[in-house]
Amino acid sequence: MRSKLLAIALGALVMTACTTTCSGPSSVPNDPPTLVLTNGTLIDGTGADPLPDAVVVMSGAKITAVGARGEVDVPSGAPTVDVGGGTILPGFINAHVHNAYSAGNLTTWAQAGVTTVRDEGIFSQQHTLAELIAMRDSDWSEPGYARLVSAGWMISPPGGYGWLHVTSPDDARQKAEDELDQGADLIKATMEDGYGPATNLPVMTFEELSAIAETAHARGALVTAHITEAGFMQVVVDAGVDDVAHVPWDSMPDALIQQMIAADIYLVTTLTVMEAYGVLAGAQSNLGRFAAAGGKVAMGNDYTDIPQNGFPHFELGMPMHEITRMSEAGMSPGQIVVASTRNAARVCGLEDELGTLEVGKTADVFVVDGNPLEDLSVLTDVRVVVHGGTVIRNEVR
Ligand SMILES: [Zn+2]
Repeated sequence: MRSKLLAIALGALVMTACTTTCSGPSSVPNDPPTLVLTNGTLIDGTGADPLPDAVVVMSGAKITAVGARGEVDVPSGAPTVDVGGGTILPGFINAHVHNAYSAGNLTTWAQAGVTTVRDEGIFSQQHTLAELIAMRDSDWSEPGYARLVSAGWMISPPGGYGWLHVTSPDDARQKAEDELDQGADLIKATMEDGYGPATNLPVMTFEELSAIAETAHARGALVTAHITEAGFMQVVVDAGVDDVAHVPWDSMPDALIQQMIAADIYLVTTLTVMEAYGVLAGAQSNLGRFAAAGGKVAMGNDYTDIPQNGFPHFELGMPMHEITRMSEAGMSPGQIVVASTRNAARVCGLEDELGTLEVGKTADVFVVDGNPLEDLSVLTDVRVVVHGGTVIRNEVR
């Protein structure tokens, strides 16, 4: 796999061959490799209108110029991919998955244009978190693998809906510190008393939940919280989490929606798992109301290797089932693109690096054949995927 990816990368990213007789700013020795995408419609992930006949210039792992052809300074002789009128998007981000500590899964996501995933809770106890983070940062660090953002273990009281257990606010502080020390990018807390077959599970106190949020925030890390009921959603919002990892099945009060908007708390969709548990309609109604009110939505399908209730739609790669259900809930294609790019980057804590195609951002770029604002199904018609400035898939040639 590595040698194949390397060959693709070298084929597309020809280092400026230049030793002693170079001229011009783009051909200075030791310049990072440059890559240019041309002849595409740009949807930059900010929610701005599409820009036809756009150019994206990348140097090394970063975007160095983006805009309309003729208005962008393109380095002469730079390797160029004509995307043939396709749509140029930021790499997609799935903000709620599991089983991401897997070379095969990370490869499948990246090849589909999902260049980043946020793992929302480790399921296997085969390795420590520190061991998994070490594998991520060595074995799975090449561009052919989707970037893996880790929420570590799900935190609950003993016997609750989580693998890492806390017994007091002080213990909660210590466990959150331990998670971050081992390399977790953010913290995952749960407030769940009976999801699926489990019932009457113990849940954390408000003080424990608040202690986790304070500890994470003091270290610059975000907190994501699992809930499936609006009552517990109110508790996690009051405790100051940064995003809610599921849309609840029962009706969210308008006041809660307004509180989340005022506090800039994001909502992750996961309609796929709600459908698996037979509560899709309630979740879709909540999502539609939240989005229509101006709430910030991030896309995530709760991918797992073991589908709950035998439900077959926990897709690897581009999660079209989730995207279709978001559309049915009333989100426009433009809103769905932003939820899958800029907003998903934000709940990963990576909004300064990822999620939009702007100068200075990491060059994660995804090109599809067709216009997703007219037909979302073109998101599976992949032309080009660039991850960290390296072309990992090219169907144009
Ligand atoms: Zn999950």
